[in-house]
Amino acid sequence: DPTILWFRRDLRLSDQTALIAAAAEGPVIPVFILDDETPKHRAMGGASRWWLHHSLASLDADLRDKGSRLILRRGKSDEVLAALAAETGAGRVHCIRHYEPWWRNAERAVGKRLDLVCHDGNYLAPPGSVTTGAGEPYKIFTPFWRALRERMPPAPPANRPREIAAPSRWPESDRLEDWRLLPTRPNWARGFAEWEPGETGARKRVDAFLRHAARYDEERNMPAIEGSSRLSPHLHFGEVSPAYVWHRVANAGGSVDVFLAEIGWRDYAQNVILQFPDYGAKNGRERYDRLPWRDFRSSAVRDEFDAWTKGRTGYPIVDAGMRQLWATGWMHNRVRMIAASFLIKHLLIDWREGDRWFWDTLVDADYASNAVNWQWVAGTGIDANMWSRIMAPLGQSEKFDAAGYIRHWVPELAGVSDVAIHDPDAHRCRPRAYPRKIIAHKAARERALEAGRAI
Ligand code: FAD
Repeated sequence: DPTILWFRRDLRLSDQTALIAAAAEGPVIPVFILDDETPKHRAMGGASRWWLHHSLASLDADLRDKGSRLILRRGKSDEVLAALAAETGAGRVHCIRHYEPWWRNAERAVGKRLDLVCHDGNYLAPPGSVTTGAGEPYKIFTPFWRALRERMPPAPPANRPREIAAPSRWPESDRLEDWRLLPTRPNWARGFAEWEPGETGARKRVDAFLRHAARYDEERNMPAIEGSSRLSPHLHFGEVSPAYVWHRVANAGGSVDVFLAEIGWRDYAQNVILQFPDYGAKNGRERYDRLPWRDFRSSAVRDEFDAWTKGRTGYPIVDAGMRQLWATGWMHNRVRMIAASFLIKHLLIDWREGDRWFWDTLVDADYASNAVNWQWVAGTGIDANMWSRIMAPLGQSEKFDAAGYIRHWVPELAGVSDVAIHDPDAHRCRPRAYPRKIIAHKAARERALEAGRAI
């Protein structure tokens, strides 16, 4: 009997634990199911769908090199898998385990109908397995990381299986084009051309990063420099395993601990949603439910939100980031923090609205990482960050030397000097095409602090 390999966001052939197990059992039917029913309102956003299209095309090509192929089906995962098993006589399903609450439900549902075997492999350590001496899961990053670090390095990554046997007859497959994952009109994805989704592209990114990994520490906070790895969408879609990234980077030499800790943040976020599956919808600390957010139904608030999404707030660093996000599906981490803080504290708009916008526009949109970071910036989370910590966007912009970055993403400001570009209003040199600040920093700060007193 053939075995089904259920791909989700683990779209690779190397170090793919479910594939290794399936291939060892005989003929394999690799399947990817486009399932918008199981995640409901957490169905993939637009940028993720763009990525998915290309990643699936790449995975299919890699499978074909091995004499196999990718079967595409659409619908509710447990129903589709049950039908596929009945159709092909498959006896077992292998998959890598995922921790989004809807995937955990789906795994339970599949497990009731079929012989489902879940494997670890998308995290440095299985989420939930890093605990305190008393067996409790960690809530705060630093002690979590200390405990995880002690278990590192992860096992060396496995190569792709030498052989993936084909079944005697292939079941039918949808055509990828028919899924319409790419934008039609308008084509907002032209700026996404810098990405190469898929395992080959992911490995190229790792190679490229090794050339400057030793400078990560100093350069990662400078938006004008490509100091970080840009591996986030590749890691999210599982095109490389974190163990692979770990071993490549750790063996490259130099001080890479700060980078490895960031990979640890990725694990930490999964650890949080495993404890708090609603983390994308609920404040980590309940007393923050009393925050007097501005009313999102009011048109004035909607207009300000709209200005934020379009990069027209009058705060150059925020606007540069939001435009980079729209154009490329990615935003520099430091700028994500500044832009998120601006929405939450300066505009006093509920972090969940920002989370939702990022969900739709990021190519690395990840339920856990997105929620954990939004709640961290807001100060509503289970970590120790506080509401009263309000980022000063203009000061941050200067401190991290964002002039070149702003000039690139906000062309209206291209002619403004390095000194004035962070705050053209204050230097009386704001070009007419660039909007006035939608709110003054000081007034916004006071309003946010006042809001915090409600708690
Ligand atoms: P690098 O600096 O090269 O880091 C390497 C890898 O570590 C990243 O690829 C990523 O997998 C992981 N990582 C780094 N920082 C974090 C972090 N703070 N939290 C979790 N993992 C991290 N990251 C996502 O992957 N998906 C999201 O949806 C997401 N939403 C975010 C929302 C906000 C408001 C903020 C402030 C941050 C968010 N991040 C998210 C975290 C971070 O901004 C990105 O992971 C990072 O910018 C990706 O760029 P990179 O691959 O060059 O990172």
